Amino acid sequence: MIRIESEPWAAMVSHASSTYPNECCGAMLGSNGDEKLVRVALPLKNAFEGAQAARYELRPEDLLAADKAARDRNMDLIGIYHSHPDCDAYFSKTDLQNSCPWYSFVVLSIQKGEFDHANSWLPNFDQTEAAKEELIY
Ligand SMILES: [Zn+2]
Repeated sequence: MIRIESEPWAAMVSHASSTYPNECCGAMLGSNGDEKLVRVALPLKNAFEGAQAARYELRPEDLLAADKAARDRNMDLIGIYHSHPDCDAYFSKTDLQNSCPWYSFVVLSIQKGEFDHANSWLPNFDQTEAAKEELIY
């Protein structure tokens, strides 16, 4: 289960709406325990060099910086969020290929510029499938 505090959640929704019709992406920082708690959302640059309406890419150096930002706050990098403009919050094949099994992946569905729904996904170690994780926000 992953719980997102109201402040980072509002930041994620506003980031996802403001980058519409393109995909946004960012890091979720917080504490990892029985229950994951997201306390900070860190918007990152979508580095995909192409149409960003259906694709995002994170630069490794941005992920490293996000990890450091978490440590500086005595937190962990818990996961990655990104948006799906005019698309459901499913976990695509590309999402799976670019995933890491130790993170939670929150997908926000933005329909016509407005937040619609969200899901959190936990990829398996082979990156062949992702299980839905209970998401509270
Ligand atoms: Zn996606």
